[in-house]
Amino acid sequence: MGRLKLPLALAVFTAAAFFAASGHWPWRRLAVEPAPVLATVAPALARPVTESLDTLHRGETVSAVFARHGVDGIDLPSLSRKLSLDPRRLRAGLVFTFRHAATDSAPDAITVRTSPEQRLTFTRVADEWQAAAETIAWRPEVIRIEGDIDNSLYEALDQQVADSVLGGNERTGLAWALADVYDWQVDFTRDIQPGDHFQVVLERLVSAEGDVRFGRILASDLSVGGKQLTAFRFTGGSGFYDARGSSLKLAFLRAPLEFRRISSSFTRARFHPVLGITRRHEGTDYAAAPGTPVRAAGEGVVVRAGRAGGYGNLIELRHRNGITTRYGHLRAFARGIHAGVRVSQGQQIGFVGATGLATGPHLHYEFRVNGVARDSRKVDLGNGPPLTGAELHRFEAERDRLSRLLYPAAPVLVAQRTS
Ligand SMILES: [Zn+2]
Repeated sequence: MGRLKLPLALAVFTAAAFFAASGHWPWRRLAVEPAPVLATVAPALARPVTESLDTLHRGETVSAVFARHGVDGIDLPSLSRKLSLDPRRLRAGLVFTFRHAATDSAPDAITVRTSPEQRLTFTRVADEWQAAAETIAWRPEVIRIEGDIDNSLYEALDQQVADSVLGGNERTGLAWALADVYDWQVDFTRDIQPGDHFQVVLERLVSAEGDVRFGRILASDLSVGGKQLTAFRFTGGSGFYDARGSSLKLAFLRAPLEFRRISSSFTRARFHPVLGITRRHEGTDYAAAPGTPVRAAGEGVVVRAGRAGGYGNLIELRHRNGITTRYGHLRAFARGIHAGVRVSQGQQIGFVGATGLATGPHLHYEFRVNGVARDSRKVDLGNGPPLTGAELHRFEAERDRLSRLLYPAAPVLVAQRTS
């Protein structure tokens, strides 16, 4: 997973930098575009107008861009307050459109798209500038895509999803989202084999002006190494479920941090480097840079967060089914972490340090079942809470609806529930 995400992250950052520099939007337009709004506005004015574009450059203020076009007298602070807009959040790369009447050298209208969802319009009436914020509606469209995976998921989507369906940057977003759905089931750096296959039903968002963005995944079926892995989005629950209504997330993270290496495994006996004696090691040590965020391995309640002898700064969490987890040698606790607080899986609870009996910065992580230490890297981590009762029935209806979209040609029996 880590190895797929890094190239994706780089691609996203590179794309973002490019779009910021070029002043163009990263999402693509449909080939058949409805007439742009401004073109329809201009004839209604029954007088010739000209438009010019300008980009907000890095380190430049909006006022400076306006001044370049002979616009003055805009009271930006008061207009911003009225629109609840923070002018400092107007980022470099935003493109302003200045509209002039042909008979006038100064613009009488300025528009700027501040986000995918918002457009600001400044208009000059007599000598006073007014401003309005307009929400751009994106209409969801459900589409289905299918193809083979030979090397990587990213490559498969990039090469097989047509530009007319989703632009390159949006395909990257889709690859990322799909990798997230299967984060717990598939190691995309290891498990992919030639002949693997994907089918995905997703939402893409289309604006009135014909712009297209990736929205979200609704359902997918991945065949990886002979295994069929289905995923159905269910908004009543926590993300994605398999056909039987089991959460695709495991109840516990395998490792509660991004680590450099495992410096000491769970063992019956090992020589303790600080104490100078041989004793059991009832956890796993993850070497990581000091300050690396430590995350709650599963949903639970903080039992304690404080100094505890050789553990140094220790957090202990209590989870369902008699399971507790311990996080030792922490440099500090995350804000708001103290006994009695509920935490969700993946929530940041502390930071790697070397407090207590530690020779260097690392996380000492313990996984205990009814008080008995178990090897967190080998123990069955179990699924997240399954859907039951009325919620399960609602899920099944949603699953059946999504299945008909996912398998349009021949209805496929997706579940044999045994209860
Ligand atoms: Zn340890």
